[in-house]
Amino acid sequence: MTVDRPIRTARELAVAGLIDTTAEEAVSRVASRYAVAITPAVADLIDRDDPNDPIARQFVPDPAELTFSPEERSDPIGDGEHSPVTGIVHRYPDRVLLKAVHVCPVYCRFCFRREMVGPQGLGTLTAAELDAAIGYIAGHRQIWEVILTGGDPLVLSPRRLAEMLGRLRAIEHVKVVRFHTRVPVVEAERIDADLIAALKASGKATYVALHANHPRELSAEARAAAARLIDAGIVMVSQTVLLKGVNDDPDVLAELMRGFVETRIKPYYLHHPDLAPGTGHFRLSIEEGQALAESLRGRVSGLCQPTYILDIPGGHGKAVVSANAISSGGCGSYTITDFRGNAHSYPPKG
Ligand code: SF4
Repeated sequence: MTVDRPIRTARELAVAGLIDTTAEEAVSRVASRYAVAITPAVADLIDRDDPNDPIARQFVPDPAELTFSPEERSDPIGDGEHSPVTGIVHRYPDRVLLKAVHVCPVYCRFCFRREMVGPQGLGTLTAAELDAAIGYIAGHRQIWEVILTGGDPLVLSPRRLAEMLGRLRAIEHVKVVRFHTRVPVVEAERIDADLIAALKASGKATYVALHANHPRELSAEARAAAARLIDAGIVMVSQTVLLKGVNDDPDVLAELMRGFVETRIKPYYLHHPDLAPGTGHFRLSIEEGQALAESLRGRVSGLCQPTYILDIPGGHGKAVVSANAISSGGCGSYTITDFRGNAHSYPPKG
């Protein structure tokens, strides 16, 4: 059935035919803990006859989300430990995250910030918090790149985005502004002339990192939205999370990476899934991830190769997870080295 507005409750999921009515109560329990939103475009992509549909798996709540394991963390990549002022994460010397908003047009069931996003999440920065965040960026001359993430920054109105980016324009040492978003896939109609003008309002080099995990997400509408951005001079890169039951298949991954390149989006990051609460059913082992990343070598063009990375729990940053960058200590434990040369246990001990 066609859906004409976002789905947010177990009842609406049942009415839309996305869950069985017998599952409604269990799904309601999940929805009361972790936000739910499925846009009409995403609902249209779901094959209701396929019980293992890879799009449904990413967005339709699963009772397995209420099964937690000891290694999981509410802040898996350690944003809090590197947040000098509200809304800023300063983990690496030359770049910061600016988290202006904590809502998204869809809520991914594996989200690494699932404890922070949604209607009950950290909300949108107040005027005073935004002043402090911009002041922090202005006061740190080593900040070369500002990455707007959240939440999904493209849910903000063009007027608010343009205002915020106009303030970054005035900071001479900021040269690059990057947005991390799912909007071109899940709500392509938002990518209109006003939004594109707002994205460029910083007057800096503008990058958009598109989050997509399965080739079916690159619909004709999504590809057209990406083309509008790219034709306006915005550079696009991709980010994909490796997810069991979604893209843990060499053919699916190859098709996705080719789809990005055909759309003029350079494959950038392939993320090992984070230790977010209640997401064990999505996680694969390091060896499985390495084999999948390796399967792309030779099979598809060099243009189609993303970098396979892991965000080291505790806020130690990203590390490449190629076979020679992480060493096994046996019994499912590993040692991985961060960008400062410090070694860490994975999963963390204790
Ligand atoms: S769009 Fe990003 S921040 Fe929002 S739910 Fe999905 S993964 Fe989380």
